Amino acid sequence: MSLSPSELERYNRQILISNLGLGGQRELRASKVVVAGIGGLGCLSSLYLTAAGIGKIILVDKGKFKQSDLNRQILCWQRDIGRFKADVAKEKLVALNPEIQVEALVAEITKDGVHDVIGDADVVVDGLDNWRTRFVLNDYCVMQDIPFVHAGVSALHGQMITIIPGKGPCLRCIFPKEPPEVEKIPVLGATPALLAALQVIDVIKLITGLGIPLVGRMLFLNGKEMEFETVEMKRSAKCPICSNL
Ligand SMILES: [Zn+2]
Repeated sequence: MSLSPSELERYNRQILISNLGLGGQRELRASKVVVAGIGGLGCLSSLYLTAAGIGKIILVDKGKFKQSDLNRQILCWQRDIGRFKADVAKEKLVALNPEIQVEALVAEITKDGVHDVIGDADVVVDGLDNWRTRFVLNDYCVMQDIPFVHAGVSALHGQMITIIPGKGPCLRCIFPKEPPEVEKIPVLGATPALLAALQVIDVIKLITGLGIPLVGRMLFLNGKEMEFETVEMKRSAKCPICSNL
């Protein structure tokens, strides 16, 4: 896929990254990424994926912005309260980068409907706040051989892992029992911002082949102590989803 003179200028600083280059930028332009959930994580990851020139970004969220989202869901401004998150996010992202395609899907991700939402995406980015839907995405991505970049946050803590089916553990290997759901997760806005930025770094690496993605290792952020730790995570022979790969 060729890049216009305007795109060459727009992405100049990242084309300069060794081992990314023009070839990597073309791969980003030809790629399709789904951002599942436009909350604290998804607002920021979609912003940086847009700025980086992912060719097609699909934003999925069934909800509308509320006043209490403003501390962290940075694509939501005061005037956007009450509007669908996916629609608002699309408007802002297109204004930032009109040279890519952004699609807004006001939809819930369910086991029966996940194929219609994710389809043949190159990468799926976790921007969710509940485990039920994360496992739906995990299971679908493993079965379709789509990389899935998970992150989750609470207060000043966060975690992240990249799942490449068959190459490292999936979420069911790591969490044989689904963790309990929390109705209102406490969050300092900068925590999902940080985790989402890390997710975008891995998405770009997965698409361009740059560097080593966070596969088989989970990154934990403890913002209170300002500590980052990566812990090795292994595949489970008993995993109901990926043990046969
Ligand atoms: Zn597994």
